[in-house]
Amino acid sequence: MYDFQSQPMTNSNHPTAQGEAEQPLANPDSSLCDYVVLGGGISGLSALHFLREKHPHASALLLEKESRTGGLMQTVNEDGWSVDVGPNGFLDREPMTLEIVRNVGAEPRMQRASDNAKSRFLCLRERLVKIPLSPPAFLFSGVLPLAGKLRLLCEPFVKPRRFEDDSGRIIEETIFDFAKRRIGIKAAENLVDPMVSGVFGGDSRRLSLRHCFPKMFAMEREYGSLFKALRAKKKQNPSASAAGPAGVLTSFAEGAGELPRAITERYSKFIRTGFGAERIERAGDGWSVISVAGGVVRAKKIVVATPAYAAGKLIANVDDDAANFICEVPYASMTVICTGYKNEDERAPVDGFGFLTPRKEKRRVLGALFSSSIFEGRAPEGCFQLRTMIGGASDPDGIELTDDALLRIVHNEVETMLGISREPRMVRIFRHRWAIPQYETTHERILEALRKFETANPTIAFAGNAYFGVGLNDCVLNAKRAVEKLR
Ligand SMILES: Cc1cc2nc3c(=O)[nH]c(=O)nc-3n(C[C@H](O)[C@H](O)[C@H](O)COP(=O)(O)OP(=O)(O)OC[C@H]3O[C@@H](n4cnc5c(N)ncnc54)[C@H](O)[C@@H]3O)c2cc1C
Repeated sequence: MYDFQSQPMTNSNHPTAQGEAEQPLANPDSSLCDYVVLGGGISGLSALHFLREKHPHASALLLEKESRTGGLMQTVNEDGWSVDVGPNGFLDREPMTLEIVRNVGAEPRMQRASDNAKSRFLCLRERLVKIPLSPPAFLFSGVLPLAGKLRLLCEPFVKPRRFEDDSGRIIEETIFDFAKRRIGIKAAENLVDPMVSGVFGGDSRRLSLRHCFPKMFAMEREYGSLFKALRAKKKQNPSASAAGPAGVLTSFAEGAGELPRAITERYSKFIRTGFGAERIERAGDGWSVISVAGGVVRAKKIVVATPAYAAGKLIANVDDDAANFICEVPYASMTVICTGYKNEDERAPVDGFGFLTPRKEKRRVLGALFSSSIFEGRAPEGCFQLRTMIGGASDPDGIELTDDALLRIVHNEVETMLGISREPRMVRIFRHRWAIPQYETTHERILEALRKFETANPTIAFAGNAYFGVGLNDCVLNAKRAVEKLR
């Protein structure tokens, strides 16, 4: 049995922590950097990559609070188990992410999800129901009652809504209201609500469609109907599927954490860990970044790639108003419970991607991923790994559950859903108190404040998952946006 792991940042098996001796700026306090990046998660590391690519002759320094980089994107590799702490992969459809993977030499280690992962399930009335991949299969599936299926088929005939008010401002709509209006309440509850908790750990009744799923928002606006938009997209890309996201989930032989590790190794000379930035202050034409311990790094330009609650505090001395808005980004908590079993313990097959649970089923578990079925090498020979999620915006108390309570819930769930009744051989628990930012219907106000700040202060730009997308690909694109902004 493994030790319980409730604080991912204390893992000691990450080989990328840098010693200060490696830094090009032996005494950063006295030097002026052209570029400083604050925060060493995938957003900050991507920003550093783009800066090095665009300005190879400029001086750059990434400052990370913890003793190692990667932020949420870490993998624990131990005794043949490969356990992702946060994300387990990214979709291989974003050229910028693939460019970073190539440039840091991680391409040969890339691993695409197996074909098994195309099968996704919903937990409905205590059993797993496969989400159909084709329209005919959908008609015969149990994911919706007949009335719900018929209502969904009426989608092309639903009139598009009014998008702007009289003053030309976009009228916000929650994801749930959008889904209910276009595809009916049953599909909103059974299909959309669990997808939102799977991606955002979020409550579809509070999150903004426009900010969480901008493509879907644009589809209705441009084509008047999702079906019509999908048909048009299918013509452009015949392999596109309506059942799952476009692109193949991609990771690395030793888990998602390999990517930040490879970026860190490539740019280790430009990274300083153990520097918790406390505030940014004006200093002549540039800025001073002051650490919690009183250290100072001077910079001409800064990319702030910390989570929003830290970013807001950092700029409080520069613009108090913007700081308050940025600190307002709400976060959902999430606990990830990874369990490993011997194959002979398995009475039900765990082939597929995993399952999601609609909230109306009133179960504590948001869903579970069949990690070993998605990617090879996640468990020792003869074993398999599951990854169960508890918490999210609809269950804020989930984060407070003890290890024993969490394991009881997981045990009950895998027994009911998968027929696995034995004790797990491996357990790892990761509690993310500030897991995923929630783009609620007030998100635009926050973005307005951010844009205003960046315009008034063109030598500071924001990256990170709190503003323009939470997926790893979004983080990479946001980092690129921030770097371009500084140029
Ligand atoms: C459980 C879970 C599963 C997920 N699964 C997926 C998935 O499968 N696919 C996907 O695409 N996305 C997934 N996501 C989302 C994705 O992981 C995140 O959006 C992304 O990793 C965020 O990266 P980041 O660099 O913006 O932030 P973080 O990873 O939070 O990094 C921020 C960094 O800033 C540092 N920092 C904070 N304050 C300071 C300071 N004052 N000074 C210096 N440094 C500071 C932190 O220590 C940290 O290293 C998942 C998220 C969670 C929580």
